[in-house]
Amino acid sequence: MKWFNRLIATAVILLTVNIFVQPNALTTIGRQVNNAVDIPAMLIGRLKKAATITQSPATTQARNETPIESIVNKRKLSNHYRYRFAKNVPAKAKQVFLTAVAKYNHTGIVKLSPASQKTSAQTNEITFYVYRKRISAQSSAIELGLGGPKIYPLLGYHADDLNRGKAGLNIEYPQSSIQLSVAMHEIGHALGLDHSLDRNSIMFPVDQGKTKLSAGDLAALREIYQN
Ligand SMILES: [Zn+2]
Repeated sequence: MKWFNRLIATAVILLTVNIFVQPNALTTIGRQVNNAVDIPAMLIGRLKKAATITQSPATTQARNETPIESIVNKRKLSNHYRYRFAKNVPAKAKQVFLTAVAKYNHTGIVKLSPASQKTSAQTNEITFYVYRKRISAQSSAIELGLGGPKIYPLLGYHADDLNRGKAGLNIEYPQSSIQLSVAMHEIGHALGLDHSLDRNSIMFPVDQGKTKLSAGDLAALREIYQN
């Protein structure tokens, strides 16, 4: 099957959901994806199952709207973010992150600007980082990155919720991971987007080289940041 061969050739991007005060939220897609990284076909099945479980009936999502991570859903988040780089991020990876930032800023929905010394402790922030993780030879998929939000309820500048997200690239595989599509995917997680089964979405769990936010991605971002 063509689809299966492609899975072997390409790679899975992991979702990490950092939980602050809601341990129950871990029962949603984040954990399931983490467990299923080696078996992409199973991953898709689990995602489908998780999507039906976690979708609340009150939320009427457009058919292809990218799901929103449960810990971000219904939060009151400012669309202003500061970003900073962790130590030791190579220049090439920095450039990829910066290009991804420009893509998100171009939407007009969120605004990411560089962190300064004066950045308030109550400002949303995303840290860009790199890490090295070797995937076992038996595995049919390679983890290219990690990303997720970290929510501090009511600690934002305007007593709204605060997000201290992270987006990372696995530079053990620099050819595959230092890519705009991967950076956009991981920043998407940090901003609250979950995996989508729509292949046009940058949040499809297997990297397809997509560097354009789909209508569904934009709809989800609007839902999070323009309420
Ligand atoms: Zn992902």
